Amino acid sequence: METKLWSIDQGTHIYMEAAELLRQGETVAFPTETVYGLGADATNEKAVQKIFEAKGRPADNPLIVHIASASQMDEFIERIPEKAQKLIDEFWPGPLTLILPMKKGTIAKNATAGLDTVGVRMPVHPVGLELLRITDLPIAAPSANRSGRPSPTTARHVEEDLTGKISAIIDGGSTGVGLESTVVDFAGEMPTILRPGGVSTEQIEEVIGPVKSAKNVIAKEEAPKAPGMKYTHYAPEAPVYLVKGDVAFWEEQIEQAEQKGESVGLLISDELASEIQAAVNTIKIGSTQKMEDIARRLYDGLRLFDHTDVTLIFAEPFDRSGIGEAIMNRLEKAAGNKYLIGD
Ligand code: AMP
Ligand code: MG
Repeated sequence: METKLWSIDQGTHIYMEAAELLRQGETVAFPTETVYGLGADATNEKAVQKIFEAKGRPADNPLIVHIASASQMDEFIERIPEKAQKLIDEFWPGPLTLILPMKKGTIAKNATAGLDTVGVRMPVHPVGLELLRITDLPIAAPSANRSGRPSPTTARHVEEDLTGKISAIIDGGSTGVGLESTVVDFAGEMPTILRPGGVSTEQIEEVIGPVKSAKNVIAKEEAPKAPGMKYTHYAPEAPVYLVKGDVAFWEEQIEQAEQKGESVGLLISDELASEIQAAVNTIKIGSTQKMEDIARRLYDGLRLFDHTDVTLIFAEPFDRSGIGEAIMNRLEKAAGNKYLIGD
């Protein structure tokens, strides 16, 4: 399949062409403020199937449905609980996904992995939002990467993973937040954060009071509530370890790995980079004083190692407050929870 690559600088007609492809049941990748999404008509089972095939995504991992105006939900959402409405009023358009009860027979079965709920979000990125507005359909859109890989924050990342597998890519530059949306489940009695993301738990609790977090859910229940939670994710080709310890410990770990013949890469803050003396492949992802920058550059940093001869990646763990919770969630998944811990 030929994959068209459009830039938004080519003019507004690309929105028309992309919308037409989506209406015909094809797949189009487009920027949102979180990461690039791979879109298809959420009401068309065959179109949705193309997303799963292009990504190599397991069929039991449901997709998020994207809309351009809240009124579109009338067609496929059964009911909006009061607290969900408060979050919509506060954070939409924005990086927040709500799991809500679905009207039967509206969204394609494969988009929700057969569940009777649907994850829905309104992105704030002008390009994504304009495409959704012109298409005027609910658009299922997971991140536009091969399943398991770091999510794409540039059109180049999408090309790396999906060229030849999808109909088109709209290049709208780098995404803003750089991490996926926060997913809040309203199917149960108590709102539950299934995935930390662009809107922090603190921000959500300020609006609707206490919420449960996915960590408790996984500990308490046998089957994860969001099927996606059971898969490893966000991983570059080389294995990643989170290193917890002082500078001496870092240098010791680097030396030991090199003695074993590994080529070590570091994914660390500007601050830590200024302290470590070892001459290794270092990707600095920003200052710990600006955690938003670290979120924005995390996936690009992870992907950069795939273009080097690095065989082992040591990453820095960060403070979990605010956006730090989402950063650490992605880093721990990329590392498969592997830590090297000093005293
Ligand atoms: P992605 O599309 O890769 O950003 O991942 C979407 C996330 O939303 C995954 O973690 C899914 O499991 C979750 N999700 C989407 N729809 C639902 C739903 N109806 N119920 C529970 N989780 C969902
Ligand atoms: Mg994804």
